[in-house]
Amino acid sequence: MCGIIGYIGEKNCIPIIINGLKRLEYRGYDSAGLGFIHNGNAHVIKSKGKVSILEEKINSNQYFSSLGIGHTRWATHGIPNETNAHPHFNESKNLLIIHNGIIENYQTIKTSLSNIGYKFYTETDSEVIAHLIDSFIHKGNTLLKSVRLALSEVEGTYGLAVIYNGEADKIIAARKGSPLVIGVGDGENFIASDVSAILAHTKQVVYLEDGEIVEVYKDKFVTRTTSDEEIQKEIHEISLSLDEIDKGGYSHFMLKEIMEQPESVRNSMRGRLLIPEGSAKLGGLDNVIERLLNCKRIIISACGTSWHAGLVGEYMIEKYAQIPTEVEYASEFRYRNPIIHPDDAIFFISQSGETADTLAAMKEAKNKGALALGICNVVGSSIARESLGGVYIHAGPEIGVASTKAFTSQLVVLALIALLLSRKLGMKAEEGKCIAEHMDQLPDKIAQILKLNSEIEFIASEFQDAKNFLYLGRGFNFPVALEGALKLKEISYIHAEGYPAAEMKHGPIALIDENMPAIFIAPKDSTYDKIISNIQEVKARKGRIIAIASESDSEIDHLVDYTIKIPDTISMLMPILTVIPLQLLAYHIAVKKGLNVDQPRNLAKSVTVE
Ligand code: GLU
Repeated sequence: MCGIIGYIGEKNCIPIIINGLKRLEYRGYDSAGLGFIHNGNAHVIKSKGKVSILEEKINSNQYFSSLGIGHTRWATHGIPNETNAHPHFNESKNLLIIHNGIIENYQTIKTSLSNIGYKFYTETDSEVIAHLIDSFIHKGNTLLKSVRLALSEVEGTYGLAVIYNGEADKIIAARKGSPLVIGVGDGENFIASDVSAILAHTKQVVYLEDGEIVEVYKDKFVTRTTSDEEIQKEIHEISLSLDEIDKGGYSHFMLKEIMEQPESVRNSMRGRLLIPEGSAKLGGLDNVIERLLNCKRIIISACGTSWHAGLVGEYMIEKYAQIPTEVEYASEFRYRNPIIHPDDAIFFISQSGETADTLAAMKEAKNKGALALGICNVVGSSIARESLGGVYIHAGPEIGVASTKAFTSQLVVLALIALLLSRKLGMKAEEGKCIAEHMDQLPDKIAQILKLNSEIEFIASEFQDAKNFLYLGRGFNFPVALEGALKLKEISYIHAEGYPAAEMKHGPIALIDENMPAIFIAPKDSTYDKIISNIQEVKARKGRIIAIASESDSEIDHLVDYTIKIPDTISMLMPILTVIPLQLLAYHIAVKKGLNVDQPRNLAKSVTVE
């Protein structure tokens, strides 16, 4: 959440920062701002709304500055308006800060600073940092020391960047709980909350860890701990290319990412699926495999879409590996003092690898001695670095706020884990081979479903005015019902609920009438007959029905209003196929309603606040 970028070098930072902010806009887009030092004075330009509005306010020719910072905000404290947008000034307007995260004790700090005469101009929690640093500078401290002293007083999380007229040869940046990287250039350096912001300029990055403060000069950077010890940091070469973070001719990132799924699913399996052996090879689990095989229980902890993937993972692991598995919301897990044993293995799933609640839950599990493992997309992310082992999903950058290809890749990785564990715990090679062969066919089957795009677009036009939707599925497809409903809510703002189909009778059936569309995920599997009965129950109450059904199923057409026919696979892998039409349906409904599907209201990618 929230995008941060900073530049120091010889070039004009203003276009660099604006372009970087555009790349970061998926992380927060309620307002944006830019601050820089020009002719010895600190300047700030801010605007409500998107970065393009900020860009229009700036006459690039008016200023040349080689030191600046920029921010796209996802408001936590104070409404999204121009005043509350970052950067924030100190009282003498010669120091600027941008902040990602939440300062939990900001009221206390605000009160004590107010008592000594500081005035506050915004409703944000972040503004206290500017005045607090200022108060230490006034006592004769350097900028670095002032930042360090200020941070020793704040509680909460921060990705922070500071520039100051009095020391205009550096940016100071610090991290606790919110991601920050340094981009290392030639005679210029950058800071950013994620590499996409600086990829156009450098591929050499340094990941800051929690509790580190860095002074970034144009030709060097010096990293220290909060207790002022200098640390040597490793420079990583990132392999991302700019093409991967562009829309590539699609009207939205979300559509591009839906359409990429044959490829992203293939990439998640590449080099890992052992078809002849009927097993999987996951290098990131090699060091922990004995402990994993001997664990008494697996817990999967995650938030949002990743939590839905976790539910499918639970069904996969329990069905085949027979290891008791539980799925926990990370936000609940961490605060209820869960019972965790050293022989528990806990997978933490997060696309960004920065999800604040999931990261905190992982630290808690590690402290309690459990085997904490990560399943992430972003290479080098916090969860990936802090876990004791894990698996990257390799879905490629996901920019659309509503997760699509990361979900299917998470499912693929969970299937690989289930396959690996099952085979090591006694599953016959033949059965493993059957699963592996079906996995191998997934990319082609997804491509086949994607060809139904215009058919699904037509169905979307029939339902775009509905006010509510019910999504129903059983077994492996129950979590898909939850995910389908979440997709629709996120981007179309239509109220939607997902339920296990049989639960319908225990409440939701009261909602059914001729205005209530119900989407049944009803492939031909072991629960097919049961779900047909549920369809009949809805039909008897005049509900309008869309069914996601097997291509071999011709009976279902007579029972429902619309069918979307998809290829068959084994039940464990079915969610990887059944979710695709639901992603497309949500996408088209939102587009038809004229909504910005890549930047839905109130949401942001990479949820780095609790
Ligand atoms: N808590 C800060 C604010 O509301 C920072 C939010 C963000 O991370 O964008 O301004």
